[in-house]
Amino acid sequence: MNKTDDERKQINDIVSVVKLCSLLFSGMGIFKYVLNYYKITVDNSNNTLAMDVIIVAVLVLTLIYFIWTFSTTKKFNKKNIARIQIAETYLFVLIFSIIILLTDSYKSDFKFLFLFIIITTTIQSGMKQGVTIAFVSSSILLIMDLIYGPRSPENIYFEKDLITAGVFILTAWTLGFYVKIESSHIKKLESLANEDGLTEVYNHRFFYDALREKLTACEKDNKPISLIFIDIDYFKYYNDLNGHQKGDQVLKTIGSLLKNSVRDGDVVARYGGEEFSIILPDTLEQDAITIAENIRRKIEETYFEGEENQPNGKLTASIGVSVFPDKAKSDVELIKSADDALYRAKFFNKNRVEAYHSILDELKEDIDDKNIDLVTSIKTLISVINAKDRYTYGHVERVVIYSRLIADKLGLSEKDKKKLIYGAYMHDIGKINISEEILNKKMPLTKDEWEILKQHPVNGVEIIKPVESLMDISPLILHHHERYDGNGYPGKLKGEDIPYLARVLTVVDSYDAMTSNRPYSKSKTQEEAIVELKKCSGTQFDSSIADAFVEVIEENKNNINY
Ligand code: GH3
Ligand code: MG
Ligand code: MG
Repeated sequence: MNKTDDERKQINDIVSVVKLCSLLFSGMGIFKYVLNYYKITVDNSNNTLAMDVIIVAVLVLTLIYFIWTFSTTKKFNKKNIARIQIAETYLFVLIFSIIILLTDSYKSDFKFLFLFIIITTTIQSGMKQGVTIAFVSSSILLIMDLIYGPRSPENIYFEKDLITAGVFILTAWTLGFYVKIESSHIKKLESLANEDGLTEVYNHRFFYDALREKLTACEKDNKPISLIFIDIDYFKYYNDLNGHQKGDQVLKTIGSLLKNSVRDGDVVARYGGEEFSIILPDTLEQDAITIAENIRRKIEETYFEGEENQPNGKLTASIGVSVFPDKAKSDVELIKSADDALYRAKFFNKNRVEAYHSILDELKEDIDDKNIDLVTSIKTLISVINAKDRYTYGHVERVVIYSRLIADKLGLSEKDKKKLIYGAYMHDIGKINISEEILNKKMPLTKDEWEILKQHPVNGVEIIKPVESLMDISPLILHHHERYDGNGYPGKLKGEDIPYLARVLTVVDSYDAMTSNRPYSKSKTQEEAIVELKKCSGTQFDSSIADAFVEVIEENKNNINY
């Protein structure tokens, strides 16, 4: 429960006490009536009938109290609580009217009872309801005066109650006004705490709370929940060229564009600098993709000042989509998978929508049921390696993308293509045993460290050994660091002795190592890496494969982003 909820509860508790007091005062009214009715005095207290009536009256009042306690529990939704409160208010008005009628109507000393219900209603339901109840109560008093009060020479009760009515209405009005200011302050504070000042969508903190809450609700109702991540393409470039103020304007425009593109109940948040996220409860992946595609198109079609100077001639965004529970089993996994999908959209082409796609799910279809658990632990291992090796973030993803492309180029069979992709996915799994210091070391490695690193292909094979259906993948993992000239490791295999798919993986893996920042070297550009591939063709790489891969890179030059 947050602080404002807590304070609201306290106010409700105070209101409840006030209502209880008013019921007690009503009890006094009934008591007075009973005493009068039986024409008894306090001295003559052995009249059992009167006592009985008093007990009944107390019981009735207690019953009302319990009904009201029940009505204020949190079991009901907001709409029902509002209805119950209205019913309760009119029940109180009725009880008070009866008590006033019973205690000499126009002459009654209990007219003040109405003030309780006017005050509590105003506090709970606001000025409008409060003033309405003030009017209703005043009318009841005045009508009673007119009906039962003396007609001549003048009805002083009516005149007095005109003043009472004024007090009622003024009380409701001033108190109502105060409550209104108070609640608008609370709203303002809440929006300050939950909203992002620039874009007026929710902030990062609120996003986490909302995701957890909505995911739990959807899980309870057995409904899916989708998550969309949006990242503006080349935004640094836009800022550099047009200035931060123009950049801020873009963020603002996109913020309101997103708010206008979703339904009530969806949550749009600014996840980071130029990243937005949208929580879509009760939404299937396919529908989330449609929404995401619609957003992508709207951003592309919106004119932003200076966008013609962007690398792709317009301001665009890349979008990643994932869904619980199909693609992720928890809020953390949902964020991670949507982020992975976004990364893929960015890396491949930008200005596109990508849904999360797990190679593992694909793999599961090809694997014996008895090994499913082992494969799931392989996935965990891979994510651990990715987390440890921060310089190679996305390395596995990219090697898989390249492998798909080169498999088509080389015209591999479906079976070999799958083998290559699975091999690409798992090739570094043996790095799990290597310490973070070695993986992320900036200095050149010592001889001993180098020996440790070189063990990862052998260790990788050991890890997947228990999974029979992955037997075919072992050679790829074991030999992806062999060199065509026989100077590689671990087997020092040469030329055609190196399994064909392992030779393919070597080219792809090496290319990604060249084009991504490594702890020990800065990345090469596409062109520089192509020169390097060509230079090492025939020595490190199988030249026919290196040639094919150079073609792949050149054909996809404009789609791949580093
Ligand atoms: P990519 O296409 O890969 O997403 O490249 P990018 O340049 O958009 O991404 P990168 O993460 O390199 O840069 C994000 C930029 O977003 C850096 C910063 O200039 C900009 N940015 C972050 N927050 C704000 C902000 O509040 N206002 C403005 N104007 N710019 C911001
Ligand atoms: Mg970014
Ligand atoms: Mg960006």
